[in-house]
Amino acid sequence: MSNSHNFKIAAKKIASDEGHRKTIQFNISRYDAAVSKGMARYKNVELAKQEAAAIKRDVLQNWDNYLIEFEEKISARGVEVLWAKDTEEATAYIKQILKDNEARLLVKSKSMTTEEIELNHVAESVGCESVETDLGEFIVQVAGERPYHIVTPAMHKSKGDIAKLFNEKFNTPINSTPEEMTEYVRQVLRKKYTSAQVGVTGANFLIADIGGISVTENEGNGLMTTAFPKVHIVLAGIEKIIPKMNQLGLFYPLLAAHGTGQQMTAYNTIFTGPRSLNEADGPEKMFVILLDNGRTNVYADDEAYESLACIRCGACLNGCPVYKTIGGYTYDTTYSGPIGSVLTPFLRGFKDFSHLSFASTLCGKCVEVCPVKIPLTDILLANRRKTAEQNLRPGAEKMLMQGFKLMGSKRWGFDFIPGKLKNFGTKPLNYLGWGPERTMPDFANKSFSQQYRNKKTK
Ligand code: SF4
Repeated sequence: MSNSHNFKIAAKKIASDEGHRKTIQFNISRYDAAVSKGMARYKNVELAKQEAAAIKRDVLQNWDNYLIEFEEKISARGVEVLWAKDTEEATAYIKQILKDNEARLLVKSKSMTTEEIELNHVAESVGCESVETDLGEFIVQVAGERPYHIVTPAMHKSKGDIAKLFNEKFNTPINSTPEEMTEYVRQVLRKKYTSAQVGVTGANFLIADIGGISVTENEGNGLMTTAFPKVHIVLAGIEKIIPKMNQLGLFYPLLAAHGTGQQMTAYNTIFTGPRSLNEADGPEKMFVILLDNGRTNVYADDEAYESLACIRCGACLNGCPVYKTIGGYTYDTTYSGPIGSVLTPFLRGFKDFSHLSFASTLCGKCVEVCPVKIPLTDILLANRRKTAEQNLRPGAEKMLMQGFKLMGSKRWGFDFIPGKLKNFGTKPLNYLGWGPERTMPDFANKSFSQQYRNKKTK
């Protein structure tokens, strides 16, 4: 079965799952209410978005210079910077670091880049337990699942679902409240932080002028992940670079407002190197792995390159009517929703993932909400064109489109075929494409222009 076929089957199934729909609608309605408040704090959010978009476009024009500046600055403070072209290289580096440091336990804060390389499996393959410390990530790890959403990994679970899961796995009371479950997880994780040999984080921003790594989070788990273990590994996508530290004043609130509706995320940390001689805590060794993994393929594309400006706020997912209907797992990718549909064909190949570019109504909501003004719908359309140019659409669709072009490019083509014949020809196709749930309106027996002409001659 092709990915495209599996996608259609999974989408159809989940779209009619009322429980899933209810949970997503509830969680996104809370997000929408929080974001409205977050936006109201801005005097001129449009100006902030324009500034952020301009900075990120400047990064894309001078990408190599900023990355080299970052590397020079952070290396000078004793951080080892490793460049990984793909998952294999990143995985090899991590395995080596875990082996060199005899790591048996690794704690990890939330990072979609680590999902890209399936870090938990990588660690386990060399005998190192890997524990997620973000509450949402912890929940999906316990459930044996992957993150459902790039910002809120357990968005698809209600508090009842989580209480049931914890009851099954940890024997906590089935009617536990969110506070009680959080307290339980806190106790479990405390022991993990203090006994782990390695802490892993991602990076929200790589700061070129100071050679720093910015991590923003709401639970303090990122700080704990880096405070106790002797080794800190940062795995960051190379697009995360920003030129200057003082630009965080713009990006922090913008990311928080679009990601969760907060004014600022609760904990904002800048890591600049391993513990120095006069510091009491922090890692003794620090590694930064800069991951390409297909990002330079995106960069090489004249139309898609702007998607590298993404700051992973998740707003386009929450606004997307398709994402809200089919949910995160249907995409079967690390990055889902509109940004996932744009990026994944470049990261993992058009052959297997170009169908995602068609999973959009092109309503434009994603473009409207994006804080860095990525023209997502334009790129989706361009991806569709590339898919057709590479002959990756079904042959029958191609023939159908050619027939439609022949018939629809001239007025007489439409007028010539009577309504009954149009209905006869299109009904089975609509049934196949859209399924029995939706019925297409009938074509009138005479076209609009024929009816108009008839009226005029009377
Ligand atoms: S594309 Fe824009 S809206 Fe979507 S996650 Fe990235 S920054 Fe946020």
